[in-house]
Amino acid sequence: MKVWAQCSINMAENTKLLDSEYIVHTYARQDVTFIKGKGSYLYDDKGKRYIDFGAGIAVNGLGHNNKAWVDAVTKQIKTIAHTSNLYYSEPCAILAEKLCKKAGMKKVFFGNSGAEANECAIKCARKYASDKGKGTDIITLVNSFHGRTMATLTATGQDSLHKFFDPFVGGFKYVEAGKLDALKEAIDDNTAAVMFELVQGEGGVVALDKNYVKQVEEYCKSKDILLIIDEVQTGNGRTGTFYAYEQYGIKPDILTTAKGLANGIPIGACMFNEKTENVLTPGTHGSTFGANLVACAGAIATIDQIDDALLKDVQRKSEIIKEALLKCSKVKSVSGLGLMIGIEVDDAKKVLQKCLKKKLVVLTAHDRVRLLPPLNIDDVTLNKGLYILCEVLK
Ligand code: PLP
Repeated sequence: MKVWAQCSINMAENTKLLDSEYIVHTYARQDVTFIKGKGSYLYDDKGKRYIDFGAGIAVNGLGHNNKAWVDAVTKQIKTIAHTSNLYYSEPCAILAEKLCKKAGMKKVFFGNSGAEANECAIKCARKYASDKGKGTDIITLVNSFHGRTMATLTATGQDSLHKFFDPFVGGFKYVEAGKLDALKEAIDDNTAAVMFELVQGEGGVVALDKNYVKQVEEYCKSKDILLIIDEVQTGNGRTGTFYAYEQYGIKPDILTTAKGLANGIPIGACMFNEKTENVLTPGTHGSTFGANLVACAGAIATIDQIDDALLKDVQRKSEIIKEALLKCSKVKSVSGLGLMIGIEVDDAKKVLQKCLKKKLVVLTAHDRVRLLPPLNIDDVTLNKGLYILCEVLK
């Protein structure tokens, strides 16, 4: 506010100045300040309306300002916002039951982000193996993304991100996706777990081959190697099933999620099956903010709305988008599952900029355009957004 008062510049310029002066520059920001959201629309500080095909990077699955979610969150804030994990909490217990039942898992640990959920998964896998006197290496895939903390950054299979922060965490190996022989070769007596995303999101929205995934599962089971599935981005209805693993006919030993779980309030969840549910014991893991009551209330209101009808609709809208995109001359290919869609084009960043100018928010991932619209986007808004996108891509 100091700069604003002194220089009598407008509020948007002041925001940019403060951002530039006081925020660490780890992000390349787009030149826009959103101040309001409603459904699948965002509004900037000049009152201009944008169609949102990004949903805060797969977070606002039910769009902005969703009524049941706002009601649940405000009710919880007005009642009690935080107690810590030292005491019982009704929203936490209710969410745990609902989430485990929907996910087909036995138990859950709540944290605050995707990286934190994956840290928990890595710790659990390592303890599972060391409890049995086995090695604790974890194998991940080339082009994967698992987070920005030291262990999850090391788990991330992208050389470009493995610099500056030596020493990285030991005990990770990387293999190329889709190559079963390479994975079998990498697995040895020290291998505790294999960890992957079913659709590599940050890696360009690349879905793994179903046969490959099934064979990996069978091989891991035969060797008592844990299968960790990272559904931080694919989870909570994004791909047209509650979790993407359902489409692959597999059962993870550990399942992580975050992003869309509480529609905009930070939360992460690491879930366990019958093999792994009792591995983490008192004192072995924790989080001050994990299972925060407001986050849990938001998550309950979110997952209650992700029902079979919505999931079917996600699949229907996915087909509409893919069909429209494949008719655009600049589109080389379309990838992804459900409402997690990658578009191969020559210059994804330019497409993003052009869309933004035309008041459509899209994202990029790797060298692709990435679409992650709200799951409940209505057909009229979807078609309006697609019209803009196709104008840019033809
Ligand atoms: N795992 C996957 C698959 C992700 O896509 C991301 C974030 O993009 C993460 C983990 C890290 O999540 P967060 O940014 O919430 O820590």
